[in-house]
Amino acid sequence: MLKRIFSSLLFLFFILSCNSQKSVVTDENASAISENTKVSNHTNPKLVVGIVVDQMRYDYLTRFYNKYGDGGFKRMIKEGFNCRNNHFNYVPTYTGPGHASVYTGTTPKYHGIIGNNWYDKEQKTMVYCAQDDTVSSVGTTDDAGQMSPNRMKTTSFTDENRLFTQMQGKTIGISLKDRGAILPAGHTANAAYWFHGRDEGVWISSTFYMNSLPQWVSDFNASEKAASYFKVWDTYYDISSYTESGPDENTFEGGFRGKEKATFPYDLAQLKDENRGFDILKATPYGNSLTTDFAIEAIKGEQLGQDSITDVLAVSYSATDYVGHNFGVSSKEIEDTYIRLDKDLERFFEFLDTEVGEGQYTVFLTADHGAVEVPAFLQSMKIPSGYLDNSETRTRFTDYLNRKFKSSDFIENISNDQIFLNRRYIDSLGLHINQVQESIVNELISYKHVEKVFSAHTMTTTNFTTGIESLLQNGYNQKRSGDIILVADPAYISYGKTGSTHGSGLNYDTHVPLLFFGKGITHGETYQKTVIPDIAPTISALLGISFPNAATGQPLGFVIDKN
Ligand SMILES: [Zn+2]
Repeated sequence: MLKRIFSSLLFLFFILSCNSQKSVVTDENASAISENTKVSNHTNPKLVVGIVVDQMRYDYLTRFYNKYGDGGFKRMIKEGFNCRNNHFNYVPTYTGPGHASVYTGTTPKYHGIIGNNWYDKEQKTMVYCAQDDTVSSVGTTDDAGQMSPNRMKTTSFTDENRLFTQMQGKTIGISLKDRGAILPAGHTANAAYWFHGRDEGVWISSTFYMNSLPQWVSDFNASEKAASYFKVWDTYYDISSYTESGPDENTFEGGFRGKEKATFPYDLAQLKDENRGFDILKATPYGNSLTTDFAIEAIKGEQLGQDSITDVLAVSYSATDYVGHNFGVSSKEIEDTYIRLDKDLERFFEFLDTEVGEGQYTVFLTADHGAVEVPAFLQSMKIPSGYLDNSETRTRFTDYLNRKFKSSDFIENISNDQIFLNRRYIDSLGLHINQVQESIVNELISYKHVEKVFSAHTMTTTNFTTGIESLLQNGYNQKRSGDIILVADPAYISYGKTGSTHGSGLNYDTHVPLLFFGKGITHGETYQKTVIPDIAPTISALLGISFPNAATGQPLGFVIDKN
């Protein structure tokens, strides 16, 4: 007690001498003062909120800028730091790898999340990035909760914050998608929650985290909040003012079952039965509103940001991805979804201001990948683009193998633009794996719309530092990836003729927003190139904690307020 009084007095003395006696302090005192001031200023944010907007291209910030209000995206830009040339530095640009890379500060080469689904060479079957058959669902009776981060091999900054604070700082992950909640929250999370649609419409978890849902989650699930969004989805502003997107009626959009045209308005109460019940909400902006509602309840229910030990809330907004896949980059639906997400962000930040305190929390916002304009639309604009005919390629490739090797049985799997070979079988034929890989590379490169082909041998014996090759290498995990890697022509995709998708190393998939704002963040912007793995080391540096164990990114010192 005495000690505390003494140090308070000392502090008071320093403050007084700072304000009124500057001219008489000696050099020695001055350095003690500045040191003391520094220490008293170096308090960490009470809460770090990581926001990933699924499938958010960089140009959604700029294209819809004049439609945004002052409290959402614009507030982050006006008060915080805007990295305007931020990219993914690996292929493939999918949701699982994206979320893992943001939080681990590295790429699939090290964190091991090489796709959403991939062919497991040991189990000889396709696996899902967050699948874990050793755990059980919590909050539902079906298997939608059998999930954990077990396939992610490295730590996240959320893990490092847990370790640093002796497990006192909490981590909660929230997303409509299981992988969007689980991978960011890391291995040591207190909880990850994701949305289970169908006829349930509830937030669930797994026994990896807990044995039963906390009361606040059960209360939320019982509140009918999700069902309240079965209403009419019409544009937020008059549709005639949506000049930043194409005509509402066109041939490039999917739409919902039970409605002939993909045009506003959408009566969700009427459409839900034909579109998997509560799952329809995921493909509307209301999925993001529901995520915001739940994130706010999580902060209250878990008392996040209420003491001096930093907590982390990882929120991923997934509805943007479902809308993009369904309607495409230039649709009115995408524009409305971002206008409404901006409103949700404003509501969220206002809540944080009152609940945690303005200037007491730090937020970063980025995406897990971008998206290509609908190729059919690009074609109508004379831009080279199109669709890959996989069945034709497969037939021609099989014919080639039979001709060349008298067998095509050594192809185990083709997925994520990679070919997996049966090495044991190749051995038994008296062939060498490197030779087989090389022959296949030379065959496939002659196929239409195949721009590049690389062998695993090349990936592991060459050090690429630039271009698409380096992105492939950053995405290449020697233990998990395939024997042959294919790269298609720009804007050529394996997808239906409506809606957008993603996965490539081209700018439309790699260029995404990166915004920081709040405690410890300076105001500014840069066009200097930053990459997704820089985010976790930046947050680690801000908090003064260890970097994630395999982080390859660099802390962005220029975003951190040094005062
Ligand atoms: Zn997607």
